[in-house]
Amino acid sequence: MYELIRRLFPLCRSITGDGVRETLRIIGEQIPLDVHEVASGTKVFDWIVPREWNIRDAYIKDAQGNRVVDFRANNLHVVSYSSPVQKTMRLVDLQPHLHSLPDQPDLIPYKTSYYDEAWGFCLSHRQRQGLSDAAYDVVIDSTLSDGSRTYGECLLPGAADDEVLIYTHTCHPSLANDNLAGIAVCVFLARLLASAKRRYSYRFVFAPGTIGSLVWLSRNQHRLSRIRHGLVAVLLGDSGSMRYKQSRRGDAEIDRAMLHALKHSGVPYQLEAFSPYGYDERQFGSPGFDLPVGRLSRSPNGGYPEYHTSADNLAFVRPESLAGSLSVCADVMEILENNGRFLNTSPFGEPQLGRRGLYRTTGGGPAPEREMALLWTLNLSDGAHTLLDIAERAGVDFRLIRRTTEELTGAGLLKSA
Ligand code: ZN
Repeated sequence: MYELIRRLFPLCRSITGDGVRETLRIIGEQIPLDVHEVASGTKVFDWIVPREWNIRDAYIKDAQGNRVVDFRANNLHVVSYSSPVQKTMRLVDLQPHLHSLPDQPDLIPYKTSYYDEAWGFCLSHRQRQGLSDAAYDVVIDSTLSDGSRTYGECLLPGAADDEVLIYTHTCHPSLANDNLAGIAVCVFLARLLASAKRRYSYRFVFAPGTIGSLVWLSRNQHRLSRIRHGLVAVLLGDSGSMRYKQSRRGDAEIDRAMLHALKHSGVPYQLEAFSPYGYDERQFGSPGFDLPVGRLSRSPNGGYPEYHTSADNLAFVRPESLAGSLSVCADVMEILENNGRFLNTSPFGEPQLGRRGLYRTTGGGPAPEREMALLWTLNLSDGAHTLLDIAERAGVDFRLIRRTTEELTGAGLLKSA
């Protein structure tokens, strides 16, 4: 995952353009990916797909010909979606187009101007204060033209048409945690699931924030009823604790499965109620859709000082954090895949487990966790309770209940409901 992030880091992504296409091409080397293009000007609910933005170069050059601010050194230096510029300007006239962070004077901020035509440069506050009041050559060699908006989709068909939707955004330039960590975890989750037996079909969507989920929703309205569970997976590489934001419903199966997986993961986690702010969960959770889509992250958007700055770099993302995030995602998918209902074939009184070698034959003392799991599974396998219901009620890990159902099924005491 870290290697993939390292490879994708230099690309200048935005909500449209060649940086996104190159990102999707590299993802497509790892997993099967269908790439879709949606024309600029396409109406999407209350929005319009914007013109395509591409950039080749940008700089602020002093009278001696030095590039004092250089897009080639760091693509955060240009406000994303800046319209083209070529002029000589005095510093006083350039100032309204400069962005810096006085409170974090060594960091370059990440800024965008998607939906109104503007241009600008981002630089560290320290560098800004060092600029002399001279004339500068200001160049942004960009184009804003009718083109398209690109997104990628990886579908892993399962035994059923019912789908699990996993969404991550792909629209940030050289920022490591905010967009690349989510991309890397999703790619490797898809690789894990690709080689597993699947009940559900899994649809991974790699698309820009906001306009990407809106486009996807508008093009897939006919199959939204198939989405049983969904997850927006973002910001998964920093050293903060895991954080799950519930779906709008709050009690969807994904919400319960995620809480269970986190509770039994042994790592610290936080739970956050739904709010109509954040990443693409707000589109999936808009009232017209109200899909069961939660969001898994580590430190939340805006919740860490490196957020949307040049400090969200390759050093900020940790391989072990990526691995922990992937592990939680895999645990959740295992719960969703196996969360069936069973029927106790011997429901009149307790079946005699000792005779079948399932229970210790010497009595006395408290029952070990495994035996409690057997008893709970038999008791609640009435066709109404799911395995997750049973695991929660018994207060044990879902995986133990799952193993228990296999043992009991093998002994003829359970059957699928
Ligand atoms: Zn962001």
